[in-house]
Amino acid sequence: MTTFPQIPAPAHTQVDSMLSRRFGRETVNYFSSSPLNRLSFLRTEHPFLAAALRHPSTRFVLVKDLAPLTRSSAELFYASYEDVRALVPADYFDLSEEEVLKAYDSRKSSAYPIFLGLDESRREAGLTWKNYSGTPVFGLDVTPRGSEEQQARAGEVIAAMEAQGLTFFKSRVVATFSADEAAVYAQCRALVDWNTRNTFCGTCGHPTISVNAGTKRACPPTDLARSAEGKPVERPACNTRTTISNLSFPRTDPTIIVATLSADGHRILLGRSKRFPPNWYSTLAGFIEPAESVEDAVRREVWEEAGVTLSRVVIHSSQPWPYPANLMIGAIAQVGDPAHESICLEHDPELEDARWFDIAEVKEALCVGVSALGDKPGPEYKEGGLKLPPPTAIANQLIQAAVNADYLGASEAKM
Ligand SMILES: [Zn+2]
Repeated sequence: MTTFPQIPAPAHTQVDSMLSRRFGRETVNYFSSSPLNRLSFLRTEHPFLAAALRHPSTRFVLVKDLAPLTRSSAELFYASYEDVRALVPADYFDLSEEEVLKAYDSRKSSAYPIFLGLDESRREAGLTWKNYSGTPVFGLDVTPRGSEEQQARAGEVIAAMEAQGLTFFKSRVVATFSADEAAVYAQCRALVDWNTRNTFCGTCGHPTISVNAGTKRACPPTDLARSAEGKPVERPACNTRTTISNLSFPRTDPTIIVATLSADGHRILLGRSKRFPPNWYSTLAGFIEPAESVEDAVRREVWEEAGVTLSRVVIHSSQPWPYPANLMIGAIAQVGDPAHESICLEHDPELEDARWFDIAEVKEALCVGVSALGDKPGPEYKEGGLKLPPPTAIANQLIQAAVNADYLGASEAKM
């Protein structure tokens, strides 16, 4: 029997509300529903960050080339401040953000701890700050980079971790962690990746530094490396310093993914790309383009990829997908007129095949034919049968919702 990690449990599933009666149970997808309270408003409060950095309960998620440090393929390892002291000086947050910007020196480089949030389920022995208590969790990129000195210190941290039998877990997509750890890793991976790929200002082209506890990159106004007569020389003017600019904030790219029902509601439209293993089909997906609503993007993608014209589109649930920075917005859609169901793969040759499957066949595949891309389904699977993505993928949740009609609310789900 193939086993998959549990997707997160919705926190509000037992609450009887008008919305749940009307639209059915809430679905929360893998990589979402982090156990951490992000406390985003404290990211500029350096006294808080300084206390969190050095607190004995504080835990660090370490990544090297985006691979997380683990005890096993199913469990993250949380390092202590002592483990990373060589890379992160204890006074890292002692200067204010303004002072950090003024002290910018392009000759120096340093690792930057990313504040991920407070784990409020671990209050005991945790940090208390104002009304908030829990265990602070930071993400830290230990990939050797920057100055030679910084690279040597990163090497020390890595060697000490590996000497304890821990490994940086390499996987195309991590789908073996518990729901909570998957969400923590997703946040860490997305922020490390974004910081790594945005070391130069998108407006003026000069180097940037990480601020707001790893969630913003700023273009410093001066550089001590270019000082004249003891004073730092101003860097070229850059309007990221004077206007509100999104250039220096992490990016999230929205994509749509959709389970499409036929006009009679008895069939579901699935497609496959050439890179999928034989008989493996999934829901259709694509990027939302500028000035498109979610519903517009769903209708466009389904028409472009399969030639099918949709009528109603409803948003079902969403999934952060940190590879590298997507938000998958899941929808369920239906064709209004059987004449609009004809499949045409000629517009955009992205799919190798798209097909209408009977609900009964899809239900059977959800029981026996589910596998991660490239893995084998369980022993009950019969060769040649339909294969579908695992529950950790929103595609699986959308297909389940469409075939069980449970997005229609408690009264209609049994129809
Ligand atoms: Zn700039």
